Amino acid sequence: MGENFNSMYRTNTCGELRIADVGKKVTLCGWVQKSRDLGGMTFIDLRDRFGLTQLAFNMETHAAVCEQARKMGREFVLQAIGLVKERENKNANIPTGDIEIIVTDLVVLNEAKTPPFTIEDNTDGGDDLRMKYRYLDLRRAPVRNNMLLRHKMAQQTRLFLDSQDFTEVETPVLIKSTPEGARDFVVPSRMNPGQFYALPQSPQTFKQLLMVAGLDRYYQIVKCFRDEDLRADRQPEFTQIDCEMSFVEQEDVLAMFEGLVKHLFHSVKGISIPEVPRMTYADAMKFYGSDKPDTRFDMRFVALNNAENNVVGGKNFKVFDEAELVVAICAKGAANYTRKQLDELTDFVKKPQIGASGLVYARVNEDGTIKSSVDKFYDEPALQNWAKACSAEPNDLILILAGSDQKTRKAMNELRLEMGTRLGLRNKDSYACLWVLDFPLLEFSEEDNRYFAMHHPFTAPKPEDVALLSAGKLGSVRANAYDLVINGVEVGGGSVRIFNKDLQAQMFEVLGFTKEEAQNQFGFLMNAFEFGAPPHAGIAFGFDRLCSLFGGAESIRDFIAFPKNNSGRDVMIDGPSALDEKQLNELHIALKK
Ligand code: ASP
Repeated sequence: MGENFNSMYRTNTCGELRIADVGKKVTLCGWVQKSRDLGGMTFIDLRDRFGLTQLAFNMETHAAVCEQARKMGREFVLQAIGLVKERENKNANIPTGDIEIIVTDLVVLNEAKTPPFTIEDNTDGGDDLRMKYRYLDLRRAPVRNNMLLRHKMAQQTRLFLDSQDFTEVETPVLIKSTPEGARDFVVPSRMNPGQFYALPQSPQTFKQLLMVAGLDRYYQIVKCFRDEDLRADRQPEFTQIDCEMSFVEQEDVLAMFEGLVKHLFHSVKGISIPEVPRMTYADAMKFYGSDKPDTRFDMRFVALNNAENNVVGGKNFKVFDEAELVVAICAKGAANYTRKQLDELTDFVKKPQIGASGLVYARVNEDGTIKSSVDKFYDEPALQNWAKACSAEPNDLILILAGSDQKTRKAMNELRLEMGTRLGLRNKDSYACLWVLDFPLLEFSEEDNRYFAMHHPFTAPKPEDVALLSAGKLGSVRANAYDLVINGVEVGGGSVRIFNKDLQAQMFEVLGFTKEEAQNQFGFLMNAFEFGAPPHAGIAFGFDRLCSLFGGAESIRDFIAFPKNNSGRDVMIDGPSALDEKQLNELHIALKK
């Protein structure tokens, strides 16, 4: 930094000058953060991307410029010329806090209306207002820093993948709609009446074609589009780090991208990540009730009505006796939870989105005795068996849910995360990475009464499970598919691909495509597979999520320069918007009246 910024307008930035610069004549440019008029002296904090510098105006020595300074409103754009001086009242909170500029000349480069919210780290602006004036929001240091972090992440990603001989290739944005996956955004074609392009949900088929083309290692930091209902961590357009490799197996992909993740943590956050542990999908569901467990803390599920170890049955407690699954977690040191806290937890699990019918608990007292919410049915020796099963020690709190298997696991996952949060076990500055492996190939939809590809239709079954596929045991087929999970967030996912035309055709058949439909939708890929497709595999990372995780935030919105709101609107440009008659006619679109 330094001379780089020396331009026709300025000699230095507002974040640059230090005590060693005292005595220099400098010119700074920036926005008025704040001004204070103390009579004899007027001060202005001048801000640019790089920081804040205090400008000082002395009524005694420079009366005219001081008069001028008094009239400067917030966010005016100024050019200030003056001498760097050591400050009397130093400000240890900012890097330039030892100095100030005694201004001799001031140029107003532009005036500004009073901004609709304060441009401070903690602004008074609500979400909507900030989004409407996003360019002002971006002037605030926290939002700006998110953009800088994102830039750094992208740079380091490119640096790493380039060092591994990946080639960045751009794939088209106007493609063709396919029925599998989420809903497509579509674009009407003027030149092809009645026909529509679709925006890519991911460059999946193109990257596979690039492998057929012999590119060997491809990546792209690429916009993807999915027309889904939105949540805090979803946007209709989002960015992926999309990657594909040839002549590799799952193990090669895991090693390569563990390398990328380690590189990013190291270069961006200065953190060394240990070898990333692995867990099968089956174990993730069994021990955490989720395919993206937060492994910053343990608190694994313990089934209490196992066939081999049923510690709850036969005591006439119907709720447990009739449940498909009775499952516990042990919250360390939480036996002192008050009645009120336990009621809160009960209310939590009973919320409709969680869906449990109640919560049973047992406290292990200091002296090792146990008090439970179902003492009527379970005596001390019975409760001791629970504690043993859960490895519970004095001062621990055992929490139990019961019901149908899937639903209860799902609810327990939520309760576990809630307890993790309450017990302070989910520190945003600590990171736990995890590979989840061996996902099922197919997932049954009750609603559509058919199987869907859990990942996508190009994912290869595990070689040892192909026989199950042919035998029609569709629910038991596992895939060579993998997810990277960090702190309970799925940040990446991929698979080994099918590269054999017949297996791909079989897969389409299983998914309920007729031969013609498969040919219509994916003929280009199946045809390509007839010209020597190499074995290949890949992965894609959700770049926005990765950035928000590195930035220690939940919402990806703050890491996107111009995001959309929950209704998919950009409130700044006011899009989407209606088209006029002429445009609609050109596009051959007649709107329903
Ligand atoms: N295209 C996939 C996705 O968007 C990722 C992959 O399989 O590489 O989830």
